[in-house]
Amino acid sequence: VVKGGLSVSTKEEAKARLAKAHRILYMEGLAEDTYRGHITLKTETGIIYIKPWAMGFQEVRETDLLGVDLDGNLVDGKGRLHSELPIHLEIYRSRSEIVSVVHLHPYYSVLLSSVFDGKMKMITQNGMHFWEGVPFHTSPELINSKKQGEELSQLMGERLVLLMRNHGIVTAGRSLEEAMVLAIDFEKAAKEHLMISTFGTPTEISLETAQKMSSRIFSAEQYRMMWDFYCRKLARGKFIEKQGGTSL
Ligand SMILES: [Zn+2]
Repeated sequence: VVKGGLSVSTKEEAKARLAKAHRILYMEGLAEDTYRGHITLKTETGIIYIKPWAMGFQEVRETDLLGVDLDGNLVDGKGRLHSELPIHLEIYRSRSEIVSVVHLHPYYSVLLSSVFDGKMKMITQNGMHFWEGVPFHTSPELINSKKQGEELSQLMGERLVLLMRNHGIVTAGRSLEEAMVLAIDFEKAAKEHLMISTFGTPTEISLETAQKMSSRIFSAEQYRMMWDFYCRKLARGKFIEKQGGTSL
């Protein structure tokens, strides 16, 4: 089955990809100084995999991942679950096309969330994903109840990215690759937005151009290409836990 990106055929393959996605997001600086945040992947059987509480992104191995059902009951593995699990569960509950959700507290995205006026500046191709707008959650509180999760999911609607004031981001994907790439690109776009704002009013990519180009650039084939690129970068780098942890 191909859903907006790569095919995932078995539970083992899904878990291996999910573990790798954690290390890629760490490598790209989105989870550098934190054990907070989480990525989930929903398998064909409906089990949702997530890393255990308190584990750093660079540390995650496929054997660490915990499986939960839609109500948050642990059904595979042993360990403590993250309190913000309702973010994921309520998005999955209301949107059957979504198979992966990412929640992170990336540095530039959180800075942007403190000055965000509802519109992302489209300076480069990174920002073009977000031409439709970015739903903005205005409470900095943790999302750890079903009710909060439902409200967040409703606010997100059919969009794939949501910004949370003084807190972080949520991305949703039709594939793991899509959710991951959206998070990486949003963080880059947030950095560009903030940096350019200190110089004045930038010339932005027009809405029409962004709409046209993003439909071409952000396809399943492109996500597959980007995923493969990040996997090669990970393999080349010093981010493989077998080598004794990270050494930047
Ligand atoms: Zn959070």
